Amino acid sequence: MKFPIFLFATLSLMTISCKKNNVTNGTAASITSLACNSGSFSASATANVAYSATATVPYAGGNGVVYLAGSSINSTGVTGLTASLQAGTLTSNTGNLSYTIAGTPNTSGVASFPISFGGQSCSITLTVNSGGGGGTTRTVYDSIYGAYSITYDANYAYIKTYDLPDHKSIYYPTSNPLYEFFSGTTFGGNTFAKNPNSIVTQNGTFKIPLNPTAATTHQATPLGPIGIALDGVPFFNQYAAGNAALTNEINGFDQGWGHPQPQGMYHYHVEPLYLTTVKASKSALLGFLLDGFPVYGPEENGVALTSSDLDVYHGHSHATNEYPSGIYHYHFTADAPYLNGSGFWGTPGTVTQ
Ligand SMILES: [Zn+2]
Ligand SMILES: [Zn+2]
Repeated sequence: MKFPIFLFATLSLMTISCKKNNVTNGTAASITSLACNSGSFSASATANVAYSATATVPYAGGNGVVYLAGSSINSTGVTGLTASLQAGTLTSNTGNLSYTIAGTPNTSGVASFPISFGGQSCSITLTVNSGGGGGTTRTVYDSIYGAYSITYDANYAYIKTYDLPDHKSIYYPTSNPLYEFFSGTTFGGNTFAKNPNSIVTQNGTFKIPLNPTAATTHQATPLGPIGIALDGVPFFNQYAAGNAALTNEINGFDQGWGHPQPQGMYHYHVEPLYLTTVKASKSALLGFLLDGFPVYGPEENGVALTSSDLDVYHGHSHATNEYPSGIYHYHFTADAPYLNGSGFWGTPGTVTQ
């Protein structure tokens, strides 16, 4: 009678021990840093609505071993969700851990998942939206995957972002898993010359009208953020500080064709290359200006547009995938003014930092 019990207990202990330490083939998974602050979720969450998504958490300094799926971790703060590590293989340098997030959040607020892996620990946080107070709860603005929170009232979307691009950049501090050296040719065939700035976490709220309408008087775009890309990075207009031409700034556009200004706010004046080549396409929806009108890539039906194909605000109207009954929209072009010309087509919302 004793032997089977002893064997069962031993096997159970071995299983628990292996899972706990992410051990396979005798070598423990090990990483040197885990960047929960740069983590992202594949979908936005709404209170009391069943949720399913993948959380991606960058790491650095992996030791190359295979690791097992983890047991589920309950959310704290907003409860009702779990996070479970997906099995994988550590790269020898930087990579991402993937967690399956599932469940139904019991309220709005912030759900935290304390994760621990390969000797590092941190908490990934998911903002759970309230589902609106009578306003629209799901709109095309939900495609802004880089936002950490998107909420709505009857007239506006409130899009919150830390402005941390999810692509590699030479402007990230070298300790960041998304840091990557860059040299050579950048936008417009120019030779890259790094500016002295580094990416710093921002906390911006973009208030954008849910039902954009053409303005009778078209306001000029200001310096600073004039819109937001799907990755949560602000769009800037065609001017540098003092409304000078962008000429000298273009040399500083990194591998994603963006750059940070002196306060570390990363931004795009021109086509966001990671979105048009990796995340979406040259003809896809890429973001929105503050007036709520969408921004599309530099091609239509496989043909590159130029500014002469567009009006003075740098847009035109026709049906798109997201707006089958037609809408005014801006396009990026390779030629100046790249994104916007003489101002907003509609009435802009606001940005607060
Ligand atoms: Zn700039
Ligand atoms: Zn178009």
